[in-house]
Amino acid sequence: MGKVTGFLEIDRRDRKYLPASDRIRNYKEFVIPLGREATRDQAARCMNCGIPYCHNGCPVNNQIPDWNDLVYNDKWQEALTNLHSTNNFPEFTGRVCPAPCEASCTLNLEDTPVTIKSIECAIVDKGWQEGWIKPEPSEIKTGKRIAIIGSGPAGLAAAQQLARVGHEVHVYERQGRAGGLLRYGIPDFKMEKSHVDRRVAQMEAEGVVFHYGVNVGIDIEPEELLAQYDAVGLTGGAEKPRDLPIEGRDLDGIQFAMDFLPQQNRRNGGEPDTTGNARPILAGGKHVVVIGGGDTGSDCIGTSVRQGALSVTQLEIMPQPPEKENKALTWPNWPLKLRTSSSHEEGAERDFAVGTVKFTGENGKVKTLHCTKVDASFKPIAGSEFQLKADLVLLAMGFVSPVHDGLLAKLGVKLDGRGNVEANMLAYKTSVEKVFAAGDMRRGQSLVVWAIREGRQMAHAIDKHLMGETILPR
Ligand SMILES: Cc1cc2nc3c(=O)[nH]c(=O)nc-3n(C[C@H](O)[C@H](O)[C@H](O)COP(=O)(O)OP(=O)(O)OC[C@H]3O[C@@H](n4cnc5c(N)ncnc54)[C@H](O)[C@@H]3O)c2cc1C
Ligand code: SF4
Repeated sequence: MGKVTGFLEIDRRDRKYLPASDRIRNYKEFVIPLGREATRDQAARCMNCGIPYCHNGCPVNNQIPDWNDLVYNDKWQEALTNLHSTNNFPEFTGRVCPAPCEASCTLNLEDTPVTIKSIECAIVDKGWQEGWIKPEPSEIKTGKRIAIIGSGPAGLAAAQQLARVGHEVHVYERQGRAGGLLRYGIPDFKMEKSHVDRRVAQMEAEGVVFHYGVNVGIDIEPEELLAQYDAVGLTGGAEKPRDLPIEGRDLDGIQFAMDFLPQQNRRNGGEPDTTGNARPILAGGKHVVVIGGGDTGSDCIGTSVRQGALSVTQLEIMPQPPEKENKALTWPNWPLKLRTSSSHEEGAERDFAVGTVKFTGENGKVKTLHCTKVDASFKPIAGSEFQLKADLVLLAMGFVSPVHDGLLAKLGVKLDGRGNVEANMLAYKTSVEKVFAAGDMRRGQSLVVWAIREGRQMAHAIDKHLMGETILPR
């Protein structure tokens, strides 16, 4: 259980960031690891609670107290084996997970949760450094062939699990490289893409075959895949962005976040843009307004700042949440509270309870965003109107559902009330025979850790469907 009196003796200490003035000069990661001894000390703070709420807080049910104890006892390789037993890609979650586990930690009642995410990241980073992480090809071959459509975290996790029990797995990806939003959405400063490349290489050595630049439903008919494979997994994400249909929306300079962010990630990766959306969208020298207060909005801020924006303002229609949650009401659940991301610290103005009224511009280009403050029912407050200079507006208001045209329409899978692919969390089966679905395509816009969980569980379901039984964990 770590050290019995660790939580009394050792203060919480977490990873720090490079100063904002340094980190905004490039797109590299800027989180400074704690180091071996300090990580061990932090692991010693775990109390191994009778009911470890962190287990349930973590969507992949990482066995957090167990690996905390192993790190405290200097058994890092065993900690890594334990961590991998529930999470295929801890280096992704150790970098980008919002860490609902820490919100659930008993020590969070005192605002000093165990630094679970940092310990997770330290274990897996050490695993890569020491050469402990190797391909794990299956010794048996089942003769079954499986197609996975989409190489985001859900597709990657599913493909790795299925290959490791001996199936022949082919991943079809529309883009030129693997990773989904890990590659094209999440900026390099949050997670460098070498982490994805390394896992793809591991998976290739385990027998997974990647087919890039194949948009299933456009470049290849889904029926062809159904004929060639024993099962098909849909992990295409939830890519349809929420729009802002107000006056002036068609002016030049108003862009979806996911038109803007992938361009910079491609530039960083030296990858040509073959999406047909090749006109560069750049924030340098511009007044940038980001509409939407979530993670995607934060990523737009950090990217705009690095590109040299004159100013960045982020607007959110919801009222400003409280700085501190009421633990008695929220713990061990994820609390609604004001969160300040590293990108916010890099120099953005934030405003809450703001409604957008219209855009106006000159010569077809956006120049001004007209706003008003709104009340709790989102009704405009008379007399609160104001204007913002806006040369570039980035729409980051979330995603409504997967794209229906092409793949889903041609397959004819049943959709749920929100427009996601209907499949339950036990069988992961869609309405079409031998077609399964997981990740954002099934659950709607979510998190990397949920995508990994669903990919793993879909793999369990597919293996059981094909073989009648499975050793894959759920
Ligand atoms: C900008 C941004 C930042 C985010 N930041 C975070 C964060 O910090 N932490 C976090 O936990 N979550 C974050 N998220 C959410 C997280 O990235 C997603 O929940 C997660 O990636 C979903 O994984 P997925 O595998 O279901 O889908 P995706 O990652 O969306 O991958 C789907 C893949 O399928 C491919 N595809 C789709 N249709 C087809 C087709 N017909 N044929 C072939 N290929 C196809 C796509 O090209 C894509 O590569 C962020 C999301 C965005 C947009
Ligand atoms: S995956 Fe996320 S929720 Fe789970 S232990 Fe890691 S940081 Fe916590």
